[in-house]
This record gives sequence, C-alpha cells and structure tokens, in this order.
Amino acid sequence: MRIYVDNAATTKISEGAIKTMIPYMNEIYGNPSSLHCEGQRANEALANARERIARLLGCEPREITFTSGGSEADNQAILSAARLGERKGKKHIVSTAFEHHAVLHTLEKLEKQGFEVTLLDVHENGLVSAEQVYNAIREDTCLVTVMYANNEIGTIQPISEIGAVCHEKGVIFHTDAVQAVGHLHINVQEQHIDMLSLSAHKFHGPKGIGVLYARKGIPLTTLIEGGAQERGKRAGTENIPAIMGMATALEESCAKIHENTLKLTALRDKLILGLSQIPHSALNGDHEHRLPSNVSFCFEGIEGESLLLLLDDKGICASSGSACTSGSLDPSHVLLAIGRVHDVAHGSLRLSLSEENTEAELEYILESVKEVVGYLRSISPIWRDLCEGKKNFILK
Ligand SMILES: *Cc1c(COP(=O)(O)O)cnc(C)c1O
Repeated sequence: MRIYVDNAATTKISEGAIKTMIPYMNEIYGNPSSLHCEGQRANEALANARERIARLLGCEPREITFTSGGSEADNQAILSAARLGERKGKKHIVSTAFEHHAVLHTLEKLEKQGFEVTLLDVHENGLVSAEQVYNAIREDTCLVTVMYANNEIGTIQPISEIGAVCHEKGVIFHTDAVQAVGHLHINVQEQHIDMLSLSAHKFHGPKGIGVLYARKGIPLTTLIEGGAQERGKRAGTENIPAIMGMATALEESCAKIHENTLKLTALRDKLILGLSQIPHSALNGDHEHRLPSNVSFCFEGIEGESLLLLLDDKGICASSGSACTSGSLDPSHVLLAIGRVHDVAHGSLRLSLSEENTEAELEYILESVKEVVGYLRSISPIWRDLCEGKKNFILK
C-alpha cells in the first residue's frame, strides 16, 4: 500500500482531465495556427479553454497567457513589471523572504541589473501583513509580488488587503497563486490582483502547463521568441491537450472547493493534533490562516531526510519542504524565514493532503511518524546531548 501525501509537490491528474485531453491527441491534433479545419478546431478549443479559465479567475479571456507552468508565469510576470518600471525610472520591487525560488531567483537576477529589492520579513506565524507592504512601498516601487499561499508551510496571506494597498499606491501587484488556485476562492477583480501565476499540476491537471493572468494594459515581456502565439508574447505551438486538461481540472477543483475544504480541514486538524503529541515538536505556520491540505512540522533532534526515507519504506510519500530544496543539505529558506534555527529547520516534515486521503491512512501516518521519530531520536547524538542537558531544547 502506498499513501500519497505530497500534493503540494504535485497531484495526480484527474480522470476528467485525462478524458478531456485524449481527443486532442488523437483526433483534434491540428496546429491552432493552421488555416484548415483541423487547425481551426484546435484553435476553437484554445479559445474555449481561455474563456473557461478566465471565468473562474474573474478576468477577461485576453488577459490569460498560457505558459509552461508556474515558474515561467512567475518569471514573465516579474520581468514584465520590471521592464515597465524601468521605462518610468522605477526600479524598486517589494516581495517576501519566503517566496518560491521561481520568484526569488528572478528577483536576484534583477538585482544584478540594478534593481533594488525589499524582501519583507515573515512573522513567526508565516504571515506578512498589508501594513508591512504599505510601509515598504516607495515612490520608485514598480512591483509588489507576494505569494498567495506558501508551498511549504501552507500559510495564506491577506491577498485582498495587500492588493488594496498596492492599488491605493498605484503599484502593480503580482501573486504567485500556484498553491491557492483550485483550492481557495479567487477573483482577481475583487482582490485587486494585477498579475497572477497558476500551474495545472497543483490542482489535478497535467504537468508543464500554467497561466499568467495579466490585467489588460500591462505589457508583457516576451521570454520565448518565435511565432505569434499568445498575442506574440509567448512563442511555441500551443499544448492543446494540456490546456484543455487544465481547464477541466480547474473547473472540477473550483466546483469542489467548499466540500474539499470541510473534508481536508478535518483531516488536517486530526493530523496536527496527533503530531503535536510528539514531544519537542511544533507546527510551522499559523493554524487558522492555512491551506486545508497543509501540515508542516518540525521535530527536534532528527534529520528530515532520514525521516522521509523511513516513511517511504513504510509506504508514505511525504516531503521535508519544497521539492526543489529537497536533496540539498541547506535548510529550507521558508523555515529560516519564520525564525526556525538551522538544527530545528532540518527536522521538518510536510504532509500535503488531497481529497483522496482517508481517515484510515491518517491513523497509519500518525502511528508511523511517531514510531520513526522515536527511532531516529534513539540513535541521534544531538538528541542525546539535548536529553543530557548539554544542549537546550528549543521546541517544548
Ligand atoms: C509548484 C510551484 C511553483 C512552480 O510551478 P511549476 O508549474 O512546477 O513550474 C511556483 N510557485 C509555487 C508556490 C509552487 O508551489
């Protein structure tokens, strides 16, 4: 038996999405730029998917650009706002210390090109406030980019309030909403969002496809030169099967938000309660402003990597943080940003649920984590030092 609780890394594609995709691989496989019937049918599909996705985000179809996923959308959003700002002599950007690397690395690149970046501190509870954003905005600020929900600790930022602050100050607001779309109710108009990134494989759609929403009037910088696809802003023959699968997966997910929120919140809180019973452990991030699917813990005196391998042996697919930082020995920048010290940050575990997880799986996970943490502590020199009082416990 395998138990998959790594849905923040990626999800299983839904049956509905697969069914939608198949005809666009073996029947309606024309190139949307071709003038013949087959091409035009593909082109109609493209327009149809764009409309459906726009409706779910609360924007216009022409404000949707298809990309290869969340990373590309983040890159294009930030570089576009930066180029626009540069032309007006505005070269300051506000973001946070716990963004996804697709955002942070793009900002680092811009810093090398003379941009100034203010990374807001994240509170211990994994939240940034609209007030922090307000205070950080300057005359020369061209962009605020704050993620909707954090991929490691699941905390949900006050996006509508941050959007309102940005609009009051006349600054473009981008949000990496990859963890939020399909899981939380989003409306870019009501929430004052100018640009938003999403990725299909985080809501049971296919991998390698995503969307950049950009409010009309914001000129996009082209990352991939070539043909005139996507109004000339993103060259390359459109991946129609994936685009259609994404539209279906998004409709399915959005239709289930209420039901899934109730179900997952109950499962999540049971896991949190159970894991809290392990001594010298702590939940990472605020409990209330949290994705219904996310459980993130630190256990003192253990290595997260060993924990993951032993859980894998027991049939449990979990993560220590983001899939991107797993495999490196550096502790997660997200856990450091919320003030976890290196030793504690190393002992992290992220369980990210989907509606397919069951109560029985949960019981097994709780039992297994308790057993494995106990075992790893029994062989850990750091744990012995802590118990013998040579080092002080940080978590109670
Ligand atoms: C997964 C993820 C991304 C990257 O999306 P890809 O489609 O895999 O490129 C970006 N931001 C966040 C918050 C994510 O969780």
